[in-house]
Amino acid sequence: MADHSAPSVLIAENLILNRVREIATQIQRDYEGRPLTVLGIFNGSFIFLADLLRNLSLPLQMDSMVVSSYRGKNSTGMVQVQQCSERCHLSDHDILVVDDILETGLTLEAIQKHLLDLEPMPRSIEFCILLRKNCPRKCEINARYVGFDIANEFVVGYGLDFNGQYRNLPYIGVLQV
Ligand code: 5GP
Ligand code: MG
Repeated sequence: MADHSAPSVLIAENLILNRVREIATQIQRDYEGRPLTVLGIFNGSFIFLADLLRNLSLPLQMDSMVVSSYRGKNSTGMVQVQQCSERCHLSDHDILVVDDILETGLTLEAIQKHLLDLEPMPRSIEFCILLRKNCPRKCEINARYVGFDIANEFVVGYGLDFNGQYRNLPYIGVLQV
């Protein structure tokens, strides 16, 4: 029979929301007087992004990219930028890329390459990630804003999925095996 037990709690909802508020305060300070473009990487970052944006009161616009590299619990190692909305102009703007997890770094490197190819180039590119896994990186990515450092295990919830499930959990959890 399938196991329907809930994932065990790794980071509780109130800890996440407190940390999101702290990060928003930092961003608010760093971008004061600079109109900001927040680029959400979907699907995984959508809840983090929504909570973060509600804590920012500076002028900003938001855009999104859909990027995927995972099938089940394993990265395919091939990063696909599936869609980039062209409603807002990324060129010549200060861009803050918001993503769920930094693991190998391949995803953020692909996004960075994509943004650096724009003409004119963005004025600045910084990364804001909710989780940074303690594992070997394939690309060196310096994220300016990091929510939590976590061990090298597969997590779900707060926007993160396993084969499309669990995104709606309000906390970050680890699947029971
Ligand atoms: P990277 O390209 O850095 O190896 O992986 C980043 C992407 O892989 C994340 O944006 C996320 O979509 C996915 N990912 C990496 N680790 C996990 C994990 O533990 N759980 C889930 N649900 N997705 C992960
Ligand atoms: Mg992702």
